[in-house]
Amino acid sequence: MGNISISDVKPKADSGFGATLPASTPAPAAANFPRSRLPVAPPLSMASFRRGGGPHVPSILDAGAARLVTSGRVAIALALRQMGVGAGDTVLVPSYHCASMVEPVIWSGATPVFYRINPDTSVKLDDVAAKLDGRAKVLMATNYFGFPQDLAALRAFCDARGLLLLEDCAHSFLGEYKGKPLGSYGDYAIASSMKFFPIYEGGCLVSARHALDQVALQSAGLGFEAKVLINTLEEGFAYNRLRLLKALCWLPMTLKNLLWSQIKARRHTGAQSMAPGSSDGGFGFDPRWLDKRSSFFARAMLKLVSRTRMGALRRRNYLRLQQALDGLPGCRPLHPVLPDGVYPWVFPLLTDDPHAIFGTLKMAGVPVIRFGEYLWQGVDASVCATSVDLSRRVLQFPCHQELTEQEMEWMVDHIRNALLAQKAPPL
Ligand SMILES: *Cc1c(COP(=O)(O)O)cnc(C)c1O
Repeated sequence: MGNISISDVKPKADSGFGATLPASTPAPAAANFPRSRLPVAPPLSMASFRRGGGPHVPSILDAGAARLVTSGRVAIALALRQMGVGAGDTVLVPSYHCASMVEPVIWSGATPVFYRINPDTSVKLDDVAAKLDGRAKVLMATNYFGFPQDLAALRAFCDARGLLLLEDCAHSFLGEYKGKPLGSYGDYAIASSMKFFPIYEGGCLVSARHALDQVALQSAGLGFEAKVLINTLEEGFAYNRLRLLKALCWLPMTLKNLLWSQIKARRHTGAQSMAPGSSDGGFGFDPRWLDKRSSFFARAMLKLVSRTRMGALRRRNYLRLQQALDGLPGCRPLHPVLPDGVYPWVFPLLTDDPHAIFGTLKMAGVPVIRFGEYLWQGVDASVCATSVDLSRRVLQFPCHQELTEQEMEWMVDHIRNALLAQKAPPL
């Protein structure tokens, strides 16, 4: 079986998450922006293990049978394989997307057909209907930023047209819709656990309707397990978490880094990745990870981390951002309210003039994400003007459970100042 060997694996925080300027501008290299001062994704800390009081927070893992793999994109590929998708089929993919939603479709041999969405990110069902031909097999629908689609309507639509529904819960690991956990409406559903948990890799394939017995996974090996653990710890250390552990790990980490640089110096090319690409980082899609089980560490964290605490803090931080930015010039929240049962991935802010704000914030080290920054080749305003508009104008800020009070305050101050500065009279 394809042995996976050591090569350069970038830490998670460097791996994309909107690290560049809008596509329309002659963008300087992403490296020109400093590293984000705050963690874009939740880093591991002792607080990660705290319990949360309050009611049970439903998650995709409550929706049905599950397989824990190394990324959401791998889970999409597995879902397509389970659905028997291949050459000659088409998969209906939203025009507002990231590459990791499209790459598995290409891998399957099917053709992606991009459908339109509405300004509130809901599926434009009449456009989907117009795009149905005899070859359409699957409708892929995303609960963007954690806000559910009208899943009952999508389910009914698919049933009426003989389509299979793939529910993309990459942004909605937590949450419910009409009394059922997100992930239960699709024939298959996928999630990206690394977007929600303090882990370096992780995705899941879930089905409320079909057995997953044919999806057999194997260990990716001890080297992978070690790499995941080390990367997770290093990410925590980098953001000043786990200070005692950092002190204790100083000697072993130093030795490890030394060893690593020696290994890297010996083999600079050709080596395969030893860990799958973290979310949205342009790492692409590697089918060798299809049959690999998520690390022991990541699987343990899915059990140990309190979803109640995660859900409550995500909502609290989201509302904090919403209140702090309320009424500021040139922007408004993409969603006017945060409904019950939504546990957001990020806070999406619709801006009038994203270009200046984005650059200012990135230069200041403020964590800012831009989902759909790079749309698939050929997806332009003629395909879906709304998607192109959202991909430019919606900036997202993290609201994850591991942001401290001070970090939230620092971020809110910088965003407020950037928004206020854009309306200042020219000098
Ligand atoms: C991140 C993402 C994926 C893929 O998840 P990975 O774990 O990064 O492979 C799929 N769909 C959406 C909407 C995403 O944002």
